[in-house]
Amino acid sequence: MVIGAGFGGLGAAVRLGARGYRVTVVDRLAGPGGRGRGFQQDGYTFDAGPTIVTAPQMFEELWELCGKKMSDHVPLVAMDPFYRVIFADGSTFDASQDTDKVRAQVAKMAPNDLAGWDRYMTRSEGIFRDVYQKVHDIPFRTIWDMSIIMNELIRFEGYRTVYGLVSRFVKDERLRQALSFHPLFIGGNPFAASAFYCLITFLEKHWGVHYALGGTSKIADGLADLIREQGGVLRFNEDVTEITLNGRRATGVRLASGKTIAADIVVSNADSAFTYRRLLPAHVRRRWNDRKLDRAKYSMSLFVWYFGTSRQWPEVPHHTILMGPLYRELIRDIFVKKVLAPDFSLYLYRPTATDPSMAPAGCDSFYVLSPVPNLQSDVDWTAAAEPYRRAIEDRLEHTLLPGLKNSVVTSRMVTPLHFRDTLLSPYGAGFGLEPVLTQSAYFRPQNRSEDVDGLYLVGAGTHPGAGLPAVLASAKILDKVVPDAKQLARH
Ligand SMILES: Cc1cc2nc3c(=O)[nH]c(=O)nc-3n(C[C@H](O)[C@H](O)[C@H](O)COP(=O)(O)OP(=O)(O)OC[C@H]3O[C@@H](n4cnc5c(N)ncnc54)[C@H](O)[C@@H]3O)c2cc1C
Repeated sequence: MVIGAGFGGLGAAVRLGARGYRVTVVDRLAGPGGRGRGFQQDGYTFDAGPTIVTAPQMFEELWELCGKKMSDHVPLVAMDPFYRVIFADGSTFDASQDTDKVRAQVAKMAPNDLAGWDRYMTRSEGIFRDVYQKVHDIPFRTIWDMSIIMNELIRFEGYRTVYGLVSRFVKDERLRQALSFHPLFIGGNPFAASAFYCLITFLEKHWGVHYALGGTSKIADGLADLIREQGGVLRFNEDVTEITLNGRRATGVRLASGKTIAADIVVSNADSAFTYRRLLPAHVRRRWNDRKLDRAKYSMSLFVWYFGTSRQWPEVPHHTILMGPLYRELIRDIFVKKVLAPDFSLYLYRPTATDPSMAPAGCDSFYVLSPVPNLQSDVDWTAAAEPYRRAIEDRLEHTLLPGLKNSVVTSRMVTPLHFRDTLLSPYGAGFGLEPVLTQSAYFRPQNRSEDVDGLYLVGAGTHPGAGLPAVLASAKILDKVVPDAKQLARH
């Protein structure tokens, strides 16, 4: 039994199915993908969430487990450049797999930083190989398991922040931004997340950045097909309201309709804090009690505006990061002060740059994303949303998309309220618990529940964390902690 058809839940279902489990997946949404679902509106196709596909082999493995090739079902296209960063002064930086191209840009932008850039890339590779490769798909059961990374913590200065480490290698503020913004993609604060996350720069270079033709949601659809072909069942538009128990052992789930589904094991892909607080009674929660959940740090949230236009901007790349003038201050407003800053940094997604099928002929489909504080702030999104959207539209009109205001033909937006009320994430956090050292590995809710037997957790709120490769890794960890179906049947 899997609660939630996000990427973590889908990955878990495929892996359990391949090991002989008969799997039922229940999700309150109308289709698969969770944050990574897709939707159509007025002839335009939108990805709701993830757009940057890294570590493609994590997806490929799931098809291989079913004796298939992913490329026969969901073709991936390698992106070059990976993305364009536009700084407040108008200068640009294209991230790419091509080392020469990247070094040439650094040399032009800040010649004195070139040697530091090269040394940084070596550091990023070291963290990738000696930390990420070692720990991303293994369970952390006891505090002693942390010893695996203690040496590396010192060796790679994992006790520093991402921005802190980057700043030791390069001096140019634009390069510091280009190398340090990545934690934002997984809900982390570059000024607080461990320097271990500096691995992302090398991970992108090593495996490339990819796009799934038809949008990321096509991968979710493909995984749902694999589950059905294995004999599994997906039930949509159904809410799980409780994990049923016999003593401290999970026995299945109760749905909002009152019906129960019995199960040998329960895997929750719902937000981990929600799973503990709302789906389980307080008396079984020894570790993840209300006090601990109250004290936890929750990741930032997001404002996303999806829009289709009646014309195209061919010069706008597939992925653009538009940095605002104030980087540190903006991040402090989002994570620390928890106020809606008057300024923003934006991520603009234009899949039609690669894939014309995402919009009617001659048109563009976009989304623009702005990181915002979660609902621990006082922002009233019912009033703030439309003015905020207009401010973003204005910024785009005056920068990348002149003529935008007269060309928007379809539009939809989501605010932190969507993450709280539809995706059931406490405080509308976009990425579960914030990725800081004290909430990572052993300190994050574990993949095999510490509190309830027969309950397992996958997805952004458990180890290793948010982002598509990480949530697929959480599903892979189940292979190490869930007993074989036959073994379970004998008990
Ligand atoms: C706008 C946005 C952009 C992003 N961009 C990227 C990117 O480019 N690259 C990248 O790698 N990552 C990106 N991420 C992060 C990534 O999308 C997420 O970390 C990942 O998709 C989360 O997957 P998950 O397995 O945790 O499940 P989720 O996607 O969170 O899905 C959980 C599912 O559980 C269901 N559920 C919850 N509670 C219940 C219940 N009680 N009953 C029934 N169903 C329930 C929900 O409906 C949902 O479908 C982005 C995230 C967002 C929001």
